[in-house]
Amino acid sequence: MPTPQEDLFAAKPDAKPAAKTTPMMEQYLRIKQQHSGALLFYRMGDFYELFFDDAVTAAAALDIALTKRGKHSGADIPMCGVPVHSAETYLSRLIRKGFRVVVCEQTGEPPKQRGAKSVMNRKVERVITPGTLTEDTLLDARSHNFLVALAYDGAQQCGLAWADVSTGLFCTRLLPADELAMELARLAPGELLVPESALALDAVKTLEAENPGALTPLHERDFDARTGAQRLLRLLGIVSLEPVGDYQPLELAACGALVGYVESTQVGRLPSLEAPRRQTRQSVMAIDPATRRNLELTQSISGERKHSLLGTIDRTVTAPGARLLKEWLAAPLLDPDAINHRLDAVDCLRAVAGLRARLRDLLRQTPDMARALGRLSLERGGPRDLGALRDGLRGAHRLRERLDETAADAGLPDALRQAAADIGSDGADLEQHLRRALVAEPPPSLKDGGMVAHGYAAALDDTRQMRDDSRKIVAAMQKRYARETGIANLKIRHNNILGYHIDVSATHADRLMQEPLKHTYIHRQTMASNVRFTTSELSELDARIQHAKDNAIEQEQQIFNQLREQALDMSAPLKRIAAAVARLDVLLAFGERADSDGHVRPQVDSSLVFDIRGGRHPVVEAALGDTPFVANDCALNLPAQDAENGNGGNGADEAETAGLQAPDKRVWLLTGPNMAGKSTFLRQNALIAILAQLGCFVPAQSARIGAVDRIFSRVGAADDLARGRSTFLAEMLETAAILHQATPRSLVILDEIGRGTATFDGLAIAWAVLEHLHNSNQCRALFATHYHELAALQATLPALAAVHMRARQWRDDIVFLHEVAPGTADASYGLQVAKLAGIPAAVVARAQERLDHFEAARPKSGVP
Ligand code: ATP
Repeated sequence: MPTPQEDLFAAKPDAKPAAKTTPMMEQYLRIKQQHSGALLFYRMGDFYELFFDDAVTAAAALDIALTKRGKHSGADIPMCGVPVHSAETYLSRLIRKGFRVVVCEQTGEPPKQRGAKSVMNRKVERVITPGTLTEDTLLDARSHNFLVALAYDGAQQCGLAWADVSTGLFCTRLLPADELAMELARLAPGELLVPESALALDAVKTLEAENPGALTPLHERDFDARTGAQRLLRLLGIVSLEPVGDYQPLELAACGALVGYVESTQVGRLPSLEAPRRQTRQSVMAIDPATRRNLELTQSISGERKHSLLGTIDRTVTAPGARLLKEWLAAPLLDPDAINHRLDAVDCLRAVAGLRARLRDLLRQTPDMARALGRLSLERGGPRDLGALRDGLRGAHRLRERLDETAADAGLPDALRQAAADIGSDGADLEQHLRRALVAEPPPSLKDGGMVAHGYAAALDDTRQMRDDSRKIVAAMQKRYARETGIANLKIRHNNILGYHIDVSATHADRLMQEPLKHTYIHRQTMASNVRFTTSELSELDARIQHAKDNAIEQEQQIFNQLREQALDMSAPLKRIAAAVARLDVLLAFGERADSDGHVRPQVDSSLVFDIRGGRHPVVEAALGDTPFVANDCALNLPAQDAENGNGGNGADEAETAGLQAPDKRVWLLTGPNMAGKSTFLRQNALIAILAQLGCFVPAQSARIGAVDRIFSRVGAADDLARGRSTFLAEMLETAAILHQATPRSLVILDEIGRGTATFDGLAIAWAVLEHLHNSNQCRALFATHYHELAALQATLPALAAVHMRARQWRDDIVFLHEVAPGTADASYGLQVAKLAGIPAAVVARAQERLDHFEAARPKSGVP
């Protein structure tokens, strides 16, 4: 576990470096003592070097050579190093492995006198932790990276603050402690700051087990509400928090810890975080961690994005759009009006393919403004970040023009009008200024100049002219020297050590070292086959050129600083524009998907109906490729008049499908053979609800969904060995949470409850759970089981309907039809599936014999 903040950042003055160390090592040890919890990247010329244990650890983690340098207390000092120009690659590998890294740079000039006491000045520039990254190479462009701080009152309440340091997004929320796990699963923190008192919370322990590098314990005093309020005031440059938000003390405590931590890792610099937006539970659908995992929302069970819901539906064309989609998917909306607001926009964009294509083309040329601004605010940005703002603003401007044209012709739904208004806000002056100031393709760094466009700054143009003229003079000088010396291949070259110098082959060198030329040509260096000279004229010219070059770079640096300041002054409107562009990308992606995949607009309202006709599982369908997916209906809480409009989507007998639409059935008991598609059916309905409440069209013929407040799923069994829970205990814990929390507005999907224990125990538990869901929770539920005996409950539970996945036996084999039909399955066909799986024939035959025996002995009532 990483050490507390004090260990990472505070000095320990009593610890003295050992005697007889070199001045450089003394300096190293002093800095290292202040950052004992992190690997120290210590700049030495073109390398970052690591020493002692850091070197041993990093060499192993990075698979690079471990060497040694000098001695300390009589022993060799282990050392390893990485070149500065490729340091980001190594940093990203270390950060991914859960290390924190302190970057210590050389500052100022090298000492003039080389002597025992001379040592370069060095300063810690930054502490890199998983939650405070800003570099594109260290971040996933299509995901937010949240730094989360948790304040805890020791009993029932938590305050959470979370920020994406790379974009400035900053939010806070007050929540009951028992919802913490759910919220952390939604946010998936890159790093979680916790007070020691919260280390024992289950949700924190889970995070630690799943992602040990992400946990950073801090002292209780870092979570002080009063200090938090002061930090926020300073961050936002305001005198009262009242106008920005009515923050509760726990939220202030969390915000304060977060801002303080960012300040210490950025060594005093603060990113341009926005005022923390307060979020409340009421506005979003609650999805607990187990459900999120089971439904494979953002990653599949095997950990990939590709086969998750997100991977399947993501048609965004920009990184900020992809980040926003992930954010929306983590928190589907609850309010039907807000959902329909998005759906109206998607509907409009779906219908106008031409407009959609044009807007998406423009979006593809619109860079990631939020992250560019984030880097500039932390003094880590370069010319390309200014270029990204210029091109981003230009793209935004064009998007606005297109939207305005459409609005004039056909009108626009509210969400698009709002996006157009936000995109059009300010920014034009900055864009024009950047357009005049920057070259078309700005260089990555200021080091070699070349950022400022010709014609922007007269003084800079003059300096550059001088520099370029001097180069012409060098060329003329070379010609003249060649003529004067009679050495045709005499060259004037440049390198970083000698500057401009004359270079001749060794065979010609003598001529320059003898009378009369030796008075003009001064020897500088003899190489294997060349000899280098200079002249006083060339030295003067070299100094002039160097001066012009330095001068030009200095002027460009000043211009960069001015442009950066101007951009930062515009942070708020720039963020608004970037956010609107991202929103537009997601809505367009939804429109694109609806159009290309034939999805339909769901009707989302405040009823308790759940009526899906011809629904499909988006991920399984995509995975099946050319094999057709069998669409299925799901009709819960159907009002009597809708129930008559049976409109089955799976091609089953009309009479059968019509039977599925019985009114007022809230809970479906689903039976059927293994492999028949029960889990797929359960999940597809949960996914359709989530997609609908994102504001996305859904894979179905039609869908009416009374907004779902929480989705619970208990699907499949998995041991949670990291937390010491057996399969069955994990199953029961999840089931208990559902029975305690599901409301009539919730959607519950339960797959094979009770399978992890003895048959009768399992059946008894499943029986009682089903009764409780029906009578007490009164939620909408799909309950898949192999306990066919449960069908008997239809007699006592009026809102329960038995349905089954159809399969046919053909000779000794089984054919899965993947169709949902009314009634209970006649058998589970377990033996046929066992045979399909390759269980030896003798074992299958023996099992058949035993099955016949058990069935003959079973009571005929169906109830054990
Ligand atoms: P088990 O009881 O063994 O867990 P199951 O009844 O839950 O099985 P699923 O895992 O849902 O079955 O489905 C098995 C496979 O059947 C899926 O991986 C998919 O390939 C296919 N399948 C499921 N539903 C459909 C469908 N509606 N249309 C076409 N293929 C389907």
